Amino acid sequence: MIITMKKSTPQSEIEKLTREFEDKGFSICLIQGTDYNVFGIIGDTTSIDERMLNGNAYVDNVTRIAAPYKKANRLFHPEDTVVDVNGIKIGGQEKIVVIGGPCSVEGEEPLLEIAKGVKEAGGAMLRGGAYKPRTSPYAFQGLGTPGLQYMCKARELYGLPVVSELMSEDKIDEFEEYVDVVQIGARNMQNFSLLKAVGKMTKPVLLKRGLANTIEEWIMSAEYIMAGGNENVIFCERGIRTFEKYTRNTLDLSVIPIIKERTHLPIIIDPSHATGNWKYVESMSLAAIAAGADGLIIEVHNCPEKAWSDGAQSLKVERFQSVIEKGRKIAHVIGRDM
Ligand code: PEP
Ligand code: MN
Repeated sequence: MIITMKKSTPQSEIEKLTREFEDKGFSICLIQGTDYNVFGIIGDTTSIDERMLNGNAYVDNVTRIAAPYKKANRLFHPEDTVVDVNGIKIGGQEKIVVIGGPCSVEGEEPLLEIAKGVKEAGGAMLRGGAYKPRTSPYAFQGLGTPGLQYMCKARELYGLPVVSELMSEDKIDEFEEYVDVVQIGARNMQNFSLLKAVGKMTKPVLLKRGLANTIEEWIMSAEYIMAGGNENVIFCERGIRTFEKYTRNTLDLSVIPIIKERTHLPIIIDPSHATGNWKYVESMSLAAIAAGADGLIIEVHNCPEKAWSDGAQSLKVERFQSVIEKGRKIAHVIGRDM
């Protein structure tokens, strides 16, 4: 439920109402601007009598929210959330952020070479999986802890904050220590115990859309993380499963305006997993920027033919650089920097 109070409402009245709702067990999200005071009441608000509220002279408007998500809801939080990753800002009207790096970390030397390329091409952050959600249990599962340590080395050398996928709760301490952004992969988007655990972490979360999940289910997963106290969630669309086989997945770019309309959180696009083919990564990246994405996460490899995972969709550094150069031009057209 959203209660908009008149501009003239005294602070004492706001505090009184806050106490009343809190005493009834609701949690309150209070947004105060120069021209408005808005209460977001979180909980089962069916017991609240709207007529009572409308009888309060300071109440301007009462709206019941049908959407099941509250903390992620733009109605509760009209301003864009800007997530700060070691000084790199994602969301709002900030610079469009490009994250590049290998699907899997394959060793210190190859990772550092790719990280150098990502930095020189204009990338802002480094991605790299150390724990990999592979379809086959016999496929390479990731280097584990050393993989994360190589990511830290790359951050130290090139100043790129690092993003890596967390697959299980038992690795949370390790991720708190090593990574700057915790990725929740498509396959874990509805792993609710993992989402709850990540909700207690101090690091921003990159939440990928599940392989076959609706936008509402995806926002509800963000809500799980936010309900735990971690409000720094970045959505990442990576394509959904459809009947189409020409591409690995089908990139749903319509989520960009929808997520921005419904929530206040940033959204980035992963054209690599969405298409599964390096040839389509550039065009989908440019389209994503034009559609208002706050960033891109792209797989980059120095030798894609030999990559241990996802080589077919990985860009060489020169092509990654071309995406950034062309992307900048599109960004300027829509009034953003990149
Ligand atoms: C990845 O980013 O390497 C990955 C496994 O992505 P997704 O969870 O989107 O499949
Ligand atoms: Mn991958």
